[in-house]
Amino acid sequence: MHHTAVRLLTHPLNGSHAETARFMSDYAEGDLRGYRRFRLARHLARCEMCQAAYRAFLATLTSLAALGRREPEPKPELAEAVVERIRAEGEGA
Ligand SMILES: [Zn+2]
Repeated sequence: MHHTAVRLLTHPLNGSHAETARFMSDYAEGDLRGYRRFRLARHLARCEMCQAAYRAFLATLTSLAALGRREPEPKPELAEAVVERIRAEGEGA
């Protein structure tokens, strides 16, 4: 079989680095559907380069999610109460 024909036949099945990079975020967030999702999964399973890129992407997502879960800022009233108490203790000493 001619080499070009092989490429034309395997690309739709196995996807490409460019396609994987382009739709990686959709894939990670579960927004990718159907044949494109299948092709990305298939490409990722076979391509170490894209696996590494995908892992790095997931690590970024995880750290962004961790930022989102950060403890809320202390309430201003609480901070004032602490300052008041410190001030009172300073005057008492
Ligand atoms: Zn790849």
